[in-house]
Amino acid sequence: MADRDFDLFVIGAGSGGVRASRFSANRGARVAVAEDLYLGGTCVNVGCVPKKLFVYASHFKDEMHEMTSGYGWSVGETSFDWPTLRDNKTKEIERLNGIYEGLLRDADVKHVPGRATIVDAHTVEVEGTRYTTENILVATGGWPSVPEIPGAELAKTSNDLFSLESLPKTAIIVGGGYIAVEFACIFDGLGVDVTQLYRGPLFLRGFDEDVRSHLAEQIRSRGVDLRFDLNVASIEKQGDGIRATLTDGSTMDADLILFATGRHPNVADLGLEEVGVETAKDGSIRVDEFSRTNVPSIWAIGDVTNRINLTPVAIHEGVCLADTLFADNPRSPDHENVPAAVFSQPPVGTVGLTEAQAREKYEGIDVYRSIFRALKQTLTGGDEKTLMKLIVDRESDRVVGLHMVGPDAGEILQGFAVAIKAGATKADFDATIGIHPTSAEEFVTMRTPVGG
Ligand code: NDP
Repeated sequence: MADRDFDLFVIGAGSGGVRASRFSANRGARVAVAEDLYLGGTCVNVGCVPKKLFVYASHFKDEMHEMTSGYGWSVGETSFDWPTLRDNKTKEIERLNGIYEGLLRDADVKHVPGRATIVDAHTVEVEGTRYTTENILVATGGWPSVPEIPGAELAKTSNDLFSLESLPKTAIIVGGGYIAVEFACIFDGLGVDVTQLYRGPLFLRGFDEDVRSHLAEQIRSRGVDLRFDLNVASIEKQGDGIRATLTDGSTMDADLILFATGRHPNVADLGLEEVGVETAKDGSIRVDEFSRTNVPSIWAIGDVTNRINLTPVAIHEGVCLADTLFADNPRSPDHENVPAAVFSQPPVGTVGLTEAQAREKYEGIDVYRSIFRALKQTLTGGDEKTLMKLIVDRESDRVVGLHMVGPDAGEILQGFAVAIKAGATKADFDATIGIHPTSAEEFVTMRTPVGG
């Protein structure tokens, strides 16, 4: 082992790769990490972090409306300046890039800038230099997928949205997943006229049905033109803007079209095939429960394995890997009851099973559901409704699914996710005193099932 340059060579300095690098180095390993783009990966640069800053920016229109429509405030003329937001966001991301650099340095991880290729089971090449290593970790994440339709190159992907020259006046957003829903709401909040198209009958496939239909209603009532069973068939230039021909034959003009149509594993030109690493049909790297590929010295974590494509999951997989390899403590990542949030407006928070999944898995379930207007809305006349839902396995009394659509859903869900992870029962929920007045108290005060 000692005659190789490193114990672990990580390809990709995103959330998972950086965590695996640092934790492996902390456990005494000699580690290098190669990155050809930006430190911090998608989440820090063109994902979670800048997205959340944009979500904050897009809330102020609502907040100004609320303060002036019932709470006694008045404000002068207001306006929004896109370059200010964009450039302040960029400064913050550059600061974070620097922090990542410092974290690697402090952990004694060698940062190798450039594109890495796997040469053989123990060799990686970056920009013409070859490094030998005991283990290789592929943590290269994902990349936006774009449908193959005429004119697709005229559309943007989420990678482009964070550096737009100007904010569009009108936008068509294609897709019905996390990114489409979040950006429809961000653009809407910033004053863009938004149409969102989803090819199926109801967006957010995989989420609880009540969550999906409730969110669709709320988003529509904010003014987003949400259309289902419709897709873009082709795109062409039209003056300064773009014209989309839709699958029903109609046309629609806009300043910008966003394809938020999923992401694929970032495996191109890595050398996986040459070295014999097995991939699935979707290109994701096949791994066992310890994140090991079929080539014993090559491992993979994060979105490139297409297990659960969320930053905290990649980080968890990275920590488990460091323990497995360098702490004599083989740990397989735990993918059960992973909470998630969609930062739409209102946001979604979810943990555990959907009602449909629970019906499939358990003999009998009880469903508790509450839809209400939050207290804050009472003075503003706003009609946004919050949805809360609990799904309980009747036999064990365990709460097996918990879902919310409403303000602060992500913040509220984090705490409840601990309870679900710990196996809390409905009786535990009932025995918990609410915090009054909050929306979250509804989760511990629902007493009558709505269906079983
Ligand atoms: P998703 O996989 O969530 O959604 C992709 C959407 O695009 C689906 O609605 C899919 O439809 C649709 N689609 C796929 N192909 C086409 C096509 N050819 N034409 C029209 N529509 C199409 O991907 P996203 O890009 O939204 O996000 C990628 C991943 O990033 C997510 O899975 C999530 O894990 C992560 N993410 C997490 C966030 C968070 O935690 N808040 C935020 C953003 C991203 P269908 O349902 O019919 O397949």
